[in-house]
Amino acid sequence: MFGKHLNQYRLMKHIAKLRKRVRYWQQVGSQAVQDIIQRIEKAYKLFFKQHKKGTRPPGFKKRKKYKSFTLKQAGYKFVCENKIRIGKQVFKFSFSRKIEGKVKTLTVKRNNLGELFILVVTDHQDEIIPNMTGKIAGWDFGLRTFLIGSDGTTIESPLFFKQLRNKLNAANRSLSRKQKGSNNWYKAKDHLNRVYEEINHKRHDWFWKLSHQLTDEYDVLIFEDLNLKGMQRLWGRKISDLAFATFLEILQTVAEAKAKTIHFIDRFYPSTKTCSHCGHINQELTLKDRFWDCTSCHTKRIPRDLNAAINICRVGASTLKLDTVRPSMMASVA
Ligand SMILES: [Zn+2]
Repeated sequence: MFGKHLNQYRLMKHIAKLRKRVRYWQQVGSQAVQDIIQRIEKAYKLFFKQHKKGTRPPGFKKRKKYKSFTLKQAGYKFVCENKIRIGKQVFKFSFSRKIEGKVKTLTVKRNNLGELFILVVTDHQDEIIPNMTGKIAGWDFGLRTFLIGSDGTTIESPLFFKQLRNKLNAANRSLSRKQKGSNNWYKAKDHLNRVYEEINHKRHDWFWKLSHQLTDEYDVLIFEDLNLKGMQRLWGRKISDLAFATFLEILQTVAEAKAKTIHFIDRFYPSTKTCSHCGHINQELTLKDRFWDCTSCHTKRIPRDLNAAINICRVGASTLKLDTVRPSMMASVA
């Protein structure tokens, strides 16, 4: 009512007392506790600022639901090659990659299976040596093919996408047959979580590789600004399945690191309903039409997605801000 809450300093004081009295509170380091308090503070501030928009106040969370904590400078030490001391305990781990630079924060994370990960953020920065090719292309997402480029390049969805989807369905069915809360139910749930993990890892891996491939080959990549909700309505299936949004996020990260440009055109531009040859707009085009047949000029049998990709490229190139493009790109954009 008055926009007040237990602020972080009072909360800290209170917990400091608790830590002296109750052993349970000593299990994690003071920095981790501080991190929790900062998260609560942040959640309250957000709530008071945005409660009219429907943001909810921070609620009670079980310890079991707590997935991670972050340490800054203290509270941990790399003891030797593959061991780290966190608090008073020593943990063995293996590197997924070498740590470069000075460690800024260290986050301990637990996934749904109870596996633990350490995420290290450092101040290291890779030096960017832009490798320019002078190529620009528009891209359209498809259902059968993952991506189609305005130059005719097609990127097929890997087969494992479908295989994993079947596996996921099977795991879901198996879970629903078990009695909730029974041993077998927990086993089935673990299995389901493992399938989710597998899908996530494989998909991400493929997205990163594809992002590198595309940014190696093109300097400017143009996409439609996705209206995922609208697409979902249109196609009547899980768009999350295809994870276009995740891919675009990864692509943007990679592009930034390589000084390449990802550009989006307005989602209301009718890229599929416009003739890439003469500009004629055919409002009657439906999702069933897999090919573009122009009623104005005599363009026939252009694959629908390719027609869209060419349009996306043209519109994108004309709306590109020149300050986002490197001088070497000027020629080919013009
Ligand atoms: Zn035409």
